[in-house]
Amino acid sequence: MAFQHITVPTDGEKVTVVNGKPHIPDHPIVAFIEGDGIGYDIMTASRRIWDAAVEKAYGGSRRIAWMEIYCGEKAAALYDGNYMPEETFDAMREYLLGIKGPLTTPVGGGFRSLNVTLRQVLDLYSCVRPVRWYRGVPSPVREPEKTNVVIFRENTEDVYAGIEYEAGTPENAKLAKFLREEMGAHFFEDAGLGIKPISAFATKRLVRMAIQYALDRGRRTVTLVHKGNIQKFTEGAFQRWGYEVARDEFSDVTVSEADLWSKYDGKLPEGKVLINDRIADIIFQHLLLRPSEFEVLATPNLNGDYLSDAVAAQVGGVGIAPGANIGDEVAMFEATHGTAPKYTNLDKVNPGSLLFSGVMMLEYMRWWEAADLITKSFEQTIADKVVTYDFARQMEGATEVRTSEFASAIIRNMDRFI
Ligand code: NAP
Repeated sequence: MAFQHITVPTDGEKVTVVNGKPHIPDHPIVAFIEGDGIGYDIMTASRRIWDAAVEKAYGGSRRIAWMEIYCGEKAAALYDGNYMPEETFDAMREYLLGIKGPLTTPVGGGFRSLNVTLRQVLDLYSCVRPVRWYRGVPSPVREPEKTNVVIFRENTEDVYAGIEYEAGTPENAKLAKFLREEMGAHFFEDAGLGIKPISAFATKRLVRMAIQYALDRGRRTVTLVHKGNIQKFTEGAFQRWGYEVARDEFSDVTVSEADLWSKYDGKLPEGKVLINDRIADIIFQHLLLRPSEFEVLATPNLNGDYLSDAVAAQVGGVGIAPGANIGDEVAMFEATHGTAPKYTNLDKVNPGSLLFSGVMMLEYMRWWEAADLITKSFEQTIADKVVTYDFARQMEGATEVRTSEFASAIIRNMDRFI
């Protein structure tokens, strides 16, 4: 496909998906969106680190062929004010694998969130957030190493479906009349109204991905998180459909919590994944008090939104929490924080969130050695107390460095682990 502003690297090959599994050539074309605000600083630093790790791990036999695609302010400058050009979607549909920096979303009016649009248009139905502690990172809890959980948050429905009617509008009045007169519902006058759809289709594909991930990565528990005690036909149905996927599609490799006790005396058989569920409120306590009980969580959209930020705080905050939005074919890895506009081009912020989104991407590609090298080298750099401002203010005796200097220190430290 010919593009207007996107230059396809001539020395790379396309990533493909075969039978639901990504097939990664040795020189894969990977798309990147630089991002607004601090995007330039963290993307430049992170790409240096990813490339160095791949080079050091594979000695030139593997290399990423980067392809810049555009979204946000950089796109608007190139495409005559268009923040989300169609060819950005086309490129992702064709090349399947990408990574992005943060994008500006104006508050109130203006345009819709570019991030949400990307997820919806490309049907990236699962937001994946691994939350683990990296040695040396300042944390508010005493034993941050006990938190190691991967959250699969449904990305396409729930209250994010955007079915909302403002109080005082004719649409609201029409719906309120229908609900009161035909459905027997009771609620206060002047209530804003919102509808929360949760479907078997969207629930099952999310839980399927979470279970498959647990099987692929040797994780032993998948917990369905829901508020089904109150919202029986949406959150409660999420729980029921989640168990159905496990029973109907993974019966030989999963065990439900009920069977764990009735059939296996509470001991999970070797090679099996436990499927259990927890109510959304209590799981916040459990994740704080007994985090090691949880390995993979599958949650509806809103619960997952709250949970991922709360758990990330236990291991050092969203500043270094990575994430990805993944569909059946397309996968887009992304920094989870915003554009931090006051730090734009100051070469100051922590690239950790984007950096570890790239580590997630390398793991998705099964380039484990490169991923591992970055993790070890990052931990060494933190152990040396060479950190960006955000960690420096929480650590005693730290040397505060710029984003680019932090990247150089990580790259230098890689040689200690080869
Ligand atoms: P933000 O950009 O995440 O920044 C909030 C604060 O978090 C910063 O002032 C800074 O705190 C800290 N922070 C963020 N990134 C950091 C990093 N890499 N290193 C160190 N500290 C970091 O949130 P916001 O100010 O609410 O949002 C700004 C814009 O970003 C908005 O337009 C919003 O819509 C957008 N946004 C985009 C995404 C996305 O693209 N995925 C996500 C969230 C928000 P201190 O100043 O205390 O050091």
